Amino acid sequence: MTAAKMGHTILIVEDNELNTEMLRRRLEKRGYNVVDERDGNQVKPLLDQFHPDMILMDLSLPGMDGWTLAGILKADPETSSIPIVAVTAHAMPGDREKALQAGCDDYITKPIDFQLLIRTIERFLNLSPAGDRPGSP
Ligand code: MN
Repeated sequence: MTAAKMGHTILIVEDNELNTEMLRRRLEKRGYNVVDERDGNQVKPLLDQFHPDMILMDLSLPGMDGWTLAGILKADPETSSIPIVAVTAHAMPGDREKALQAGCDDYITKPIDFQLLIRTIERFLNLSPAGDRPGSP
């Protein structure tokens, strides 16, 4: 019942347009609604208007950086429950811990392993693991 995925909305916060469009295309193909924003300063105002089911967030952003933004979103009861997955080229030792300490719920490095990304999304959305499940009732 892949229709369970329909209607989930993912906010992509990313300033690289090619990355955004690649993610949008692949996520929409799987039935997700995608909203994107490139400027870190615009994310909080955007979230006053709608509530995504999760956020995929680059960390190096124009405006406000992703570490600061994650901290702000997690400090606000209106947005604290939205899972944030950092999607970042910051892949040095300690970068994962830094992202998690800033408030991100998980961390994926670029270049993106798309299967890992999908598994991570489905875990946060409490969906069944990706893949065919022939014979499932
Ligand atoms: Mn960036």
